Amino acid sequence: MKEYYLNKKTTPILILLTCFILLSISFTGCLDDDKPEEQKENSLRNRQLDNVSILPNWKDGNYHDYYKTTDLLLNFNTNYPDMVDVVSIGKSVLGKDIWCIRITNEKNNKNKFSCLIDGCIHGIEWEAGEACLYLAEYLLINHGKNKTITDILNNTEIYLIPLVNPDGRQNDEVGNENGVDLNRNFDIYFGRLRSRVYRLGKLFGKIKIPYIKTQPNDPSKWWRNCGRYAFSEPETRALRDFMKSINYHDFSFYVNCHTAWHNIITPTPWSKWIFNPPYIMSEKEIQLFDHVKDWVEENTEYEADRSEEMTTGGCADIWAYKEFRIPSFTFEILSIDYDAWYGEHKHDNLVHWMKTTIPVFMYLLINVEKLHDWKTPDIKPPLSDGVPSILLS
Ligand SMILES: [Zn+2]
Repeated sequence: MKEYYLNKKTTPILILLTCFILLSISFTGCLDDDKPEEQKENSLRNRQLDNVSILPNWKDGNYHDYYKTTDLLLNFNTNYPDMVDVVSIGKSVLGKDIWCIRITNEKNNKNKFSCLIDGCIHGIEWEAGEACLYLAEYLLINHGKNKTITDILNNTEIYLIPLVNPDGRQNDEVGNENGVDLNRNFDIYFGRLRSRVYRLGKLFGKIKIPYIKTQPNDPSKWWRNCGRYAFSEPETRALRDFMKSINYHDFSFYVNCHTAWHNIITPTPWSKWIFNPPYIMSEKEIQLFDHVKDWVEENTEYEADRSEEMTTGGCADIWAYKEFRIPSFTFEILSIDYDAWYGEHKHDNLVHWMKTTIPVFMYLLINVEKLHDWKTPDIKPPLSDGVPSILLS
C-alpha cells in the first residue's frame, strides 16, 4: 500500500520534470539542430580558425640538388627528432643514397596507415622532388598547431622519397647513369614495343643512349631506353623493395610525381587489343579513380588525364597498383610550357608551383583510410590562405 501511495504521488511530478528538462534543452540550444544561427556561425568560424595552416617560407630560385636535398633532410631529422626518420633505401648507379624521410608522430604507437610520395624518377623534373620537400616542411611546421595535420600525423606514416634518381637529378638528365628511363623499368608489361621502348641499358657498359628521336619534332614518338630487363637498375630495385617493406604496414596509396603535364593520371583498364593484360580493373576501382580525378579538376588548378586505355608498360605507378592493389597516381606538376621535351625546360616560380601541389596532397592524405579501403574519398581538406585552388591566369 505504501508503495502504491508513493507511485501515485510521484509519477505526475516525474513526467512534469522530464518535460521541463526536454523543453529547457531545446530552448537553450543544447541540441545541435536547434542551435541559433549566430551560434552556428561562431562554431564554424572557430573550426576554420583551428584549421588555418602556415606555408613553408621558401624563396623562388632556391632549388635543392642532391647535396642540398641531403642537407635539408638531415636538418629535418635534427629539428624534429620525434617526427622524422631519414633512411637510405639504396644506392644509385654512382653510389648516391636514395633518401627516404618518414614523417609521423613517433610518440603515438598505434597502428597507422602508410603512404608513399616520391619524385624525380626523371632527373630533369626538379619540381617533382621539390614538392616532396615542400610537403615535408609543410607537415612538420604545422604539426601540433593545425588540428587536421596533427590528426594526419597521428594516424599515418608518410614516406617521401624526393630523389628516386639522384644521379639524373645531379646530371640534369631524364634517365639514370645508365641512360635508362627508370619509369619504364618496372615489371609490368615490360619492354614491349607498343610502349615505344628498347631493352638496351648502357651500350658496352659505356655509352648512354637514353632515347632515339624517330620523329625529331614530336618527342611523344621518341623511343626510350627501358633497361635490359625489368628491375635491371639499382634505383628501381631499391624502390620495389622499399614498397614491399611498407606493404606490411597498411600501405594505402602511392603518388609518383613528375613534371610538366599539369594533370593527375591514374591506372586505367588495358587496351582490349592487349592479349593477357597484367590486371583487370574492377568497377569500384574505376569509380574511385574517377572520383579523385573529378575532385582534382574541380578543386585545384590541375586537370585530369582522361585516357581510357593503358598501353604503356614499365611504369612505377601502375606496377604499384598491380602489385599491392592500392590507389596509385602520377601527379604531373607545372604546366606544359615548362616541359623539358615539349616546352622550354625552364625552372621558375618555384613557390607558386609548390603551393599548387598542397591541395592535391592534402586531399589524398586526409582520405588515407578511405583510399586504403577503396571507399569514395569524399573528405575535403581545409586549406591554408595563399593556396591557389583554381588556375591563375
Ligand atoms: Zn616524368
